[in-house]
Amino acid sequence: MRTIGLIGGMSWESTAIYYRQINEEVRTQLGGLSSAKIALQSLDFSEVVALQKSNRWNDAAALLSDAARRLEAAGADCVLICTNTMHLVADEVAAAVSIPLIDIRHETGRVLSDAGKKRPLLLATRYTMEHGFYADYLRDQFQIELAVPNEIDRAKVHSVIFDELCCGIVTDDSRHALEKIVVRGKEAGADSVILGCTEICLSLTDDNLALPVYDSTAIHSRAAVNYALGHKVESRRDAV
Ligand code: GLU
Repeated sequence: MRTIGLIGGMSWESTAIYYRQINEEVRTQLGGLSSAKIALQSLDFSEVVALQKSNRWNDAAALLSDAARRLEAAGADCVLICTNTMHLVADEVAAAVSIPLIDIRHETGRVLSDAGKKRPLLLATRYTMEHGFYADYLRDQFQIELAVPNEIDRAKVHSVIFDELCCGIVTDDSRHALEKIVVRGKEAGADSVILGCTEICLSLTDDNLALPVYDSTAIHSRAAVNYALGHKVESRRDAV
């Protein structure tokens, strides 16, 4: 079994989900007492958020690249950035190491594409919804056209992520607000919804949403296990 390298802590609420899902998937696939080999670099999220807020993406890239190098030195066979937002610097992180970076955009795009989805609604941070790195990637690699919520709804999703979910706060009010945003997305023509922030699955599941749900955290975790167990998985490095 290969060792999965996680750059986590962004926030640790979702890294805990990765840890559980990866181990559960290994148990499902191998049975018995099998569990995943994982190396973790858990960052201080407050430092990352300070760089995001001040648009210091080069410094953020350096911070995550250092973490990736430490994972490689610790014996990791691949690297996952356990947040959609920080894939804004995925190219720099991938270039810092010689092990493959399993890209959350690539894995999510591939699952959507296999399901024939063409116009997913993206629920994510402002950075992910408004910078081009997610929409451009899915368009270029999979001919998928992302839809995003309107301005007011984007502000709501962003604040639910940072003020609540990343702080471990899950409320019915916010869940209902997100559900309504998904309904509006459907009315505007979306054919599916991407939970494009690794904490959104704390609030939303596919139980009662108006559109088919693609949870980036679950998809990314499963891709990591498939890679660790030697199944064919397209790493970002193979893909571009
Ligand atoms: N975990 C979130 C994401 O998937 C947001 C945290 C961050 O800003 O990195 O985008």
